[in-house]
Formats: sequence, structure tokens, C-alpha cells
Amino acid sequence: MECIFCKIIKREIPSEIVKEDDLAIAFKDINPQAPVHILIVPKKHIASISEMKEEDENLIGHLFNMAREIAQELGLSSGYRLVINNGKDAGQEVFHIHLHLLSGRKFSWPPG
Ligand code: 5GP
Ligand code: ZN
Repeated sequence: MECIFCKIIKREIPSEIVKEDDLAIAFKDINPQAPVHILIVPKKHIASISEMKEEDENLIGHLFNMAREIAQELGLSSGYRLVINNGKDAGQEVFHIHLHLLSGRKFSWPPG
């Protein structure tokens, strides 16, 4: 079976899209962990940060730039957290790289 985020990119599964360009798509997390919880996903299927290649570094940087733009557009001036879970012990459930953009509440540190 094909990856769920690839299906979202191809509009085979609906999602609440926040932003999109040639390289990436941002949509609301289906199970939000904060008032703002957006996933920023490269259109290229890469399973995890461990699987990325040196040639992907601009693409991964692009995800962070998109996060910055969304944060600016949503006025998240009091802060936000960006998270990439890599591998099962880190809590990765969907094996297609995604950057979590979380905001709208205070976050604790260290993470759980
Ligand atoms: P991970 O645990 O892999 O870092 O994060 C996967 C995230 O994808 C979770 O926060 C989960 O709620 C979200 N998610 C899983 N399936 C779907 C889906 O079909 N649609 C949306 N919008 N989010 C999903
Ligand atoms: Zn995929």
C-alpha cells in the first residue's frame, strides 16, 4: 500500500491544506497536539531523515522556510515548536519526512 502522505499530496485522501508549492505541501494534523498543528511535507517521498541524501538538503531546508512563512502568516509571534521525529523510538509513525509546526500553547522541555 502506498504511503498516506503521498496520497494526501495526490489528493487521493482529503486534508486541510494550508500552503503548497512545487516542492512541499502543508496541511493540518488530523490529531492536533496544540491549537496550531501543521505538517509540512516534501512532495518527494523520503522515508525519514535517516534516509535523506546530501542532495536533499535544500529540500529539507525548504520545509523550514515554509514553516517560517506559515508562522508569519498566522501571526505566531509568541513562539512555535518545529519537530521532526526520526525512527520508531522517536515516535515516527508516518514514514514520509514531515516537519511538525506546533503553536498556540506553552511547550515543556525536555520533551516526553
Ligand atoms: P509522526 O508521529 O510520524 O511524527 O507524525 C505523524 C502525524 O501524522 C501524526 O501527528 C498524525 O496525527 C498525523 N496523521 C496521520 N495520518 C494522517 C492523515 O491521514 N491526515 C492528517 N492530516 N494527518 C495525519
Ligand atoms: Zn510518501
